Amino acid sequence: MKSKEGAIIVLTGPSGAGKTTLCEALFKAFPHLRFSVSCTTRPPREDEMDGIHYQFWSKEQFQEGIARGDFVEYAEVHGNFYGTLRAELQIGIDMGWLTLLDIDVQGQMNIKKLYGDYVLSIFVTTPSYKDLENRLLARGTEGTNNLQERLQSAASEMKHIPSFDYLIINDDKKRAENEIVSIVHAFLCTIPRYDVQKLIDNWAQS
Ligand code: 5GP
Repeated sequence: MKSKEGAIIVLTGPSGAGKTTLCEALFKAFPHLRFSVSCTTRPPREDEMDGIHYQFWSKEQFQEGIARGDFVEYAEVHGNFYGTLRAELQIGIDMGWLTLLDIDVQGQMNIKKLYGDYVLSIFVTTPSYKDLENRLLARGTEGTNNLQERLQSAASEMKHIPSFDYLIINDDKKRAENEIVSIVHAFLCTIPRYDVQKLIDNWAQS
């Protein structure tokens, strides 16, 4: 890693747990935060734009991307491929930016392995399985099969909660937003990402 100040926030959790709303709260609180746009082979939803929410690639394009080494991590989730572009993440690290990733459990593990202390990982979930089912039904973006698949993978993703730094139970939108903003604030105050000697020198000279 070139820069000592680039940091990565990984947000993981079942679809429907409210990750998008929490991302928005983070962008409001940290205007310099940058979203890493992933690639996916799943078709766009009605309100999704290519290059903003995802880069929507065909399965062939994705396979070519894997062969070229375009991805720092990728995974098959609910029958589609999703991947974090190396270039997309590396530019943030090199420039010392704060980068936000919305990726699944497998992705979180890989990013943590690669970037260690520079990663803050947060798992977001609903208070119960039933709540998740209700939210997904209300959102109406998934067909019956896909909905069942997402509920099943949510249950297996939950088993990995201990590998995360923080857990947010999203039972109250405002509280969950406040929690995530506080967690990120605290993370940005931790020592490892700073050049401590430079900080001490500057402190003594000012
Ligand atoms: P959705 O289809 O609901 O947008 O996303 C499905 C799942 O894929 C979510 O858990 C999301 O976090 C995950 N995901 C999105 N982008 C990536 C990625 O680049 N890598 C990995 N590993 N998972 C991703």
